[in-house]
Amino acid sequence: YTFCHFMMTIFWHRRDLRIEDNSGLYHALKSEQNVQPIFIFDTNILSKLSNKADPRVSFIHQELEKLQLELSEYGAEIWIFKGTPANIFKDLLEKHDIRNVYTNRDYESYAINRDQGVKQILKKQNVDLHTFKDHVIFEGDEVLKKDGLPYTVFTPYKKIWLAKLESTRMDKELFYFKSYPTKHYASRFAQASCIDYRCTLNDIGFKQTQQLFPPKSVSKKIISKYADDRDFPAINGTSKLGIHFRFGTISIREKARSALKLSNTYLSELIWRDFYSQILQHFPHVEKNAFRSKYERVQWRNNEDEFDAWCQGQTGYPIVDAGMRELNAIGHMHNRVRMIVASFLTKHLLIDWRWGEAYFAEKLLDFDLASNNGGWQWAAGCGTDAAPYFRIFNPTSQMEKFDKGRLYIKKWVPEWGTDGYTEPIVDHKIARERCLATYKEALN
Ligand code: FAD
Repeated sequence: YTFCHFMMTIFWHRRDLRIEDNSGLYHALKSEQNVQPIFIFDTNILSKLSNKADPRVSFIHQELEKLQLELSEYGAEIWIFKGTPANIFKDLLEKHDIRNVYTNRDYESYAINRDQGVKQILKKQNVDLHTFKDHVIFEGDEVLKKDGLPYTVFTPYKKIWLAKLESTRMDKELFYFKSYPTKHYASRFAQASCIDYRCTLNDIGFKQTQQLFPPKSVSKKIISKYADDRDFPAINGTSKLGIHFRFGTISIREKARSALKLSNTYLSELIWRDFYSQILQHFPHVEKNAFRSKYERVQWRNNEDEFDAWCQGQTGYPIVDAGMRELNAIGHMHNRVRMIVASFLTKHLLIDWRWGEAYFAEKLLDFDLASNNGGWQWAAGCGTDAAPYFRIFNPTSQMEKFDKGRLYIKKWVPEWGTDGYTEPIVDHKIARERCLATYKEALN
């Protein structure tokens, strides 16, 4: 190894793979000299991924290449490592004169523990870990009820969220939507010189995916018509920005700013994202357990053959099958259909919501623990603000309502309407009664 002898500040990218309007990076550049960006392919996370062509890993890799290119305009580069963050930081501390580490906060329990561990390692060498809010508009303790407790119902949460936003309006600008002009301080990036840490996909044991990723920008028309179109899976009526929000390849502030001008309904969805994030922050038990503990008493049937049929899109309910096949094919599923398939799994089949949650986690490009968990607990009836258990989606009437022309069904289930299409694996009426009885027994 060659040693870099100058003092440096590390900026650690995680779910914020961009330069512009990156709050932690902005603070690092503004306050320090020689800011060296890094990314760590965390082997604790990678080792849990069974698909060695996992598209999310390809996506990260592709975005890092873009970052590399952008940084080269400033004579800088990103260092990319593979290992556990604890070991990588120990190594970095040994080899370089590191004065500070900056990063943006991540609220998942694994991330919180990881960051605590890194903080301790840095502290031993008198290096501080500075963390910033970047991933959400409001963190958990910024929007609270008058009594200081967190909101667990969306509508009042949203009301206070919007009020807090407006309370900071200065002329036309809203403080919480302000962007961080990172490029203004780009001269503070450490200049690429003595060392080069890189990682190819191959180096980390992964392969390139064949899957395509949705673009970072959306036409204004989609957002303006969002309120009318968003419920119909056959229409290209949603932004498909989920993966970009997840990995921070776009800025939530920028998108929220434009939503405020174009569509209140779209802004509302971004507030749902903050809502579920703060639920995970305040109630970390939801990661493994029902938000409402008495729902732990539900006697799930957990039939593995039925679960397989659901995963493969072979339930005999066309809207459910179309959704699951869309998910399997492109790593995306329309929100309306996510609600339908989740309800079908938990209520018609009485399969533990955690099975469905895990399957989504494996397949969704936009998988995000807080939103996925929130969505599943909502569907199963055991979450915050959840659909009451006796409200059971009828997959056939949902199809009639939201895919009238059957365009979505025909796209994903081409054999629908022929003899080749499978028979329903459960009868709706019987399944409905069984679900009501099972939940009732658990909750009484
Ligand atoms: P758009 O409709 O264009 O919405 C824009 C953005 O708003 C989304 O990208 C997302 O960041 C946010 N958003 C929209 N709806 C919600 C919501 N209900 N909760 C939280 N944020 C929302 N969303 C995820 O980002 N990751 C998940 O893993 C995830 N799992 C889900 C599981 C279930 C069972 C359900 C019912 C919903 C889930 N959602 C999840 C929420 C929602 O379905 C997706 O955010 C949305 O379909 C993504 O498509 P889009 O980017 O076109 O969204």
